Amino acid sequence: EEQAQTLETQRDELERTGAAIALKARELEQASQYKSDFLANMSHELRTPLNSLLILSKLLSDNPDGNLSTDQVKFAQTIASSGNDLLTLINDILDLSKIEAGHIEIRPETLTLQRLTSDLRQLFQPVADERKLAFEIQVAEGCPAAIETDRQRLEQVLKNLLSNAFKFTEKGGVTLTIAPDGLGGLSLAVKDTGIGISREQQESVFEAFRQADGTISRRYGGTGLGLSISRELARLLGGIITLESRPGEGSTFKVTIPLAYDPTGVAPREPSLRAP
Ligand code: ADP
Repeated sequence: EEQAQTLETQRDELERTGAAIALKARELEQASQYKSDFLANMSHELRTPLNSLLILSKLLSDNPDGNLSTDQVKFAQTIASSGNDLLTLINDILDLSKIEAGHIEIRPETLTLQRLTSDLRQLFQPVADERKLAFEIQVAEGCPAAIETDRQRLEQVLKNLLSNAFKFTEKGGVTLTIAPDGLGGLSLAVKDTGIGISREQQESVFEAFRQADGTISRRYGGTGLGLSISRELARLLGGIITLESRPGEGSTFKVTIPLAYDPTGVAPREPSLRAP
């Protein structure tokens, strides 16, 4: 009799605790949703005025009437380039908050490797030329002519990896190699001959706002958001990004994605995305 009574009390207590935890979880979820919505709205509000600032400073720096002094043109160019940096940061924060809120929609389409490589060639050949670096694109044997994926998002990931590769490389160059991954997927590897990343830093560079080395990053600029966005986008495409690197020799960031997007194959989000 007494034992039954104790058991009963214990069960009641457990139930109460369970309900309290569920309530707390809902509150936390709600707070996190407010935060994401706030960030998304803020970014939109910031982009509108910034866009007119960018357009007008560009117009000024072109000096169409030729009546600005050399200094004035330089100032207008500085406004335009600082504005561009700010726009990149805002876009990154917007992307990250959309990912956090689960608001990124994957729109699969047929993407030929021909289209993908020519898009990237067009974007990065000028960067390679300017930095006097080599830029190679290799499509291995056995690759399909086309895949089914979100072209914009895949290109966003590769653009991030390629611009990092050029940013952190002083001599040699960058190679993009596309190949079957041997498990029915496609791997796209961005290899550079740059400064490399130490073993201890290799995991943390994927965390939001993390840069391998404060002094190096300050020298190279950037927000520390690109890789965490890239890793999340790769995951949303049903794939992963891996990193192999040796300081002083270079880095290889490899994206592996399925040949056809399958929403049921998307892995859950890693908690490490969350900023501390
Ligand atoms: P950002 O480039 O804006 O700083 P990322 O998230 O793209 O942010 O990269 C995070 C950090 O990882 C960089 O600051 C840099 O320290 C390191 N990193 C990324 N790509 C490379 C690379 N190809 N070679 C060397 N270091 C890299």
